Amino acid sequence: MAKAGHMIVALKAMLMPPHMFSSKDPKLLAALVESRKRHAPYAGAFLIKDEPGTDSSVTSGSDTEKSIYELKGKELLDRLHEVGTLAQITSIQGDQVVLIGHRRLRITEMVSEDPLTVKIDHLKDKPYNKDDDVIKATSFEVISTLRDVLKTSSLWRDHIGDFNYPRLADFGAAISGANKSQCQEVLEELDVYKRLKLTLELVKKEMEISKIQESIAKAIEEKISGEQRRYLLNEQLKAIKKELGLEADDKTALSAKFKERLEPNKEKCPPHVLQVIEEELTKLQLLEASSSEFNVTRNYLDWLTALPWGNYSDENFDVIHAQKILDEDHYGLGDVKERILEFIAVGKLRGISQGKIICLSGPPGVGKTSIGRSIARALNRKFYRFSVGGLSDVAEIKGHRRTYIGAMPGKMVQCLKSVGTANPLVLIDEIDKLGRGHAGDPASAMLELLDPEQNANFLDHYLDVPIDLSKVLFVCTANVVEMIPNPLLDRMEIISIAGYITDEKTHIARDYLEKATREACGINPKQVEVTDAALLALIENYCREAGVRNLQKHIEKIYRKIALQLVRQGATCDPSTAAKLDSKTDGTTVGVDEKVQEVVSETAEEAEVVEVVQSNEKEDISINQVSDSKDHDETKLEPEVEETKPVEKVLVEESNLSDFVGKPVFHAERIYENTPVGVVMGLAWTSMGGSTLYVETTHVEEGEGKGALQLTGQLGDVMKESAQIAHTVARAILAAKEPGKSFFANTKLHLHVPAGATPKDGPSAGCTMITSLLSLAMNKPVKKDIAMTGEVTLTGRILPIGGVKEKTIAARRSQVKTLIFPAANKRDFDELASNVKEGLEAHFVDNYNQIFELAFEEKQKEQ
Ligand code: ADP
Repeated sequence: MAKAGHMIVALKAMLMPPHMFSSKDPKLLAALVESRKRHAPYAGAFLIKDEPGTDSSVTSGSDTEKSIYELKGKELLDRLHEVGTLAQITSIQGDQVVLIGHRRLRITEMVSEDPLTVKIDHLKDKPYNKDDDVIKATSFEVISTLRDVLKTSSLWRDHIGDFNYPRLADFGAAISGANKSQCQEVLEELDVYKRLKLTLELVKKEMEISKIQESIAKAIEEKISGEQRRYLLNEQLKAIKKELGLEADDKTALSAKFKERLEPNKEKCPPHVLQVIEEELTKLQLLEASSSEFNVTRNYLDWLTALPWGNYSDENFDVIHAQKILDEDHYGLGDVKERILEFIAVGKLRGISQGKIICLSGPPGVGKTSIGRSIARALNRKFYRFSVGGLSDVAEIKGHRRTYIGAMPGKMVQCLKSVGTANPLVLIDEIDKLGRGHAGDPASAMLELLDPEQNANFLDHYLDVPIDLSKVLFVCTANVVEMIPNPLLDRMEIISIAGYITDEKTHIARDYLEKATREACGINPKQVEVTDAALLALIENYCREAGVRNLQKHIEKIYRKIALQLVRQGATCDPSTAAKLDSKTDGTTVGVDEKVQEVVSETAEEAEVVEVVQSNEKEDISINQVSDSKDHDETKLEPEVEETKPVEKVLVEESNLSDFVGKPVFHAERIYENTPVGVVMGLAWTSMGGSTLYVETTHVEEGEGKGALQLTGQLGDVMKESAQIAHTVARAILAAKEPGKSFFANTKLHLHVPAGATPKDGPSAGCTMITSLLSLAMNKPVKKDIAMTGEVTLTGRILPIGGVKEKTIAARRSQVKTLIFPAANKRDFDELASNVKEGLEAHFVDNYNQIFELAFEEKQKEQ
């Protein structure tokens, strides 16, 4: 193209692919059209230098572009790169011109200004060695890179191989995403190798970019598809939940639930708690519903909002009302009830019942728990009971920290949640059996809970906000006061319940247990009668322990059997006609009596008199029954129900008692009707109440200097020592009473305390042991029906003992007539109710000589 005078067009220096270009310059367009019409449809395409606007597009209507088109002649020329392309004009449609770049040009001089026409030189590539390895390798690399880049366009990919090196370089640069100035650089490079290298750089870059683009696209795609999947699943889950009615688990529904729950208590709720709740609610909203922390927070909020903050039940300090309730629930226990009423009275005057912790102590089954329940009823407080027997984990009281899996708050928080008021009566059972913790001490945790000084700000590890327990009334129960940890004991007011004597038990059974059991079994009082003698036999022979729980069990057993009998008979003669009712009544009595006969004939002689009477009754009834069944045919059974007729009655008597409760398990604590020489009855006190026990002594062998004492009967250390003391004291007393007698010096003795399987300990058998030893030494039995208790010192002084009431009750049970107590215990004995003391001759001694007189000398007088 040696001819000079080409139109120039400012555009991106496109070399290979057809390039669309639009021009708003009518003169330029006209010149292009003109040029095309001639047989030289070519124009020069040159890039504008460093024009920021040019990089975007020449066709855009930007200000820069406009200004370029406003430029003319020399001005425009200066703004153009010198090297451009000879472009073939392939089509012109409107202002759209399609150009194909061919060869390289360089402007040499301007020919005309508008449109700008210039003279050009055709530029030729520098010669290169086609077979040069480097250039070859470079071109291959360009090709392979381009193939990668053009992965999707098979058209181009297939043709790349056909291009020569310069063309390859131009093509590469053209299709790379390189900017115009980079393309211009390629255009201006006439060294083919260098041009290939430039192109390679560009296409490599392009490939990198496309790789990055691909990975970005992939990542985004993955993310989108993951999110979509999650969204889809969530939507499905929601739909499922909705179907199942679980929608309430939704976050907002949850917070709404918590807020709603808190609403009634909001004003009474302490501000620090409200703040924590608010914070947790906010946190809940931010957490992923499936995360574990969400669950922790939800549970925590559940507890926080479920507690009865500041919600108190109105207390009733009416003493008369309280007295009525206590009497309604429990027989006797006068002193205990009095103490409770005093407590309520103080509450009335102060307006609140708090301060001391009441501790009810006594053997099992004496009504400690049920009194606690009555106090709650009397005071109109909610009742909650938990047992701490064997509790060794402090977390049970103080709660776990929330960070643990499955963490729970302590018992007290659980209590408040379950009762729903902040001032319940909490009964802590078996406080004397509190375990020893391996991590932390439950006793000190208990102290923190119970101590009125500390519990206004009780901190549960789980709850993490202090709660006020000062309005809670604590009542503890214990079997043995001595086992309660001292700091706890210090803060308690002990009310002891010693146990019941037969008379009291009879009342309890009649007025409370029987009634309750009858109701529980659905038996009409008219359908059953337990005679006084039967009840007495039940108490004396089956239920001798201090409490009445066993008695209650036996009564329940009797009533269950009665219920079965009634139902059985009801089943055989179902339609309750008057006639049937009659015959049923008779049948029952007969049935029982028949059994009675069998039993009686086997065993008791005493029941004979009763038996005669019963037999008579039975005969009468049998006759009735016979006549009745004759009168009423089965066909007549249907209609008339007669209410006024006497209902059937099951009779429980002493003689047929064993049909209901089996043979007595517990015959007597009295092994001896008359204690032989060397045997004396003592009195013991255990956590089960009082009991009598014997101390037996015999001689093993005699001989000069053989004096010794052998002990058996599972005695503890204290009891062993007290046996040694007894041996010494007995020897001294014998020496004083019968000088010259060398019994103790020359006799090997054996002292035994039955029952051999029961471990025993304590000092209070001291005086019993001395008496037993002396009885053997003097070969004199002690007075009949005497029992004694008391610790003895080496000089023979008698020291006080514990459990006077229990021991007295036990003595009565064993038909003891004369009791010997230490003088220091007289006060305790005097305080006992008169029915407990009734018929007992009690002596109070402070020196063993007095016992000696009571046990042996009266006997001599009697003889
Ligand atoms: P504890 O807690 O001392 O072991 P409970 O309180 O469980 O004993 O009492 C056992 C049962 O005996 C309860 O059903 C209770 O009502 C009954 N009971 C105990 N003492 C009396 C009493 N004085 N009057 C009526 N019922 C009693």
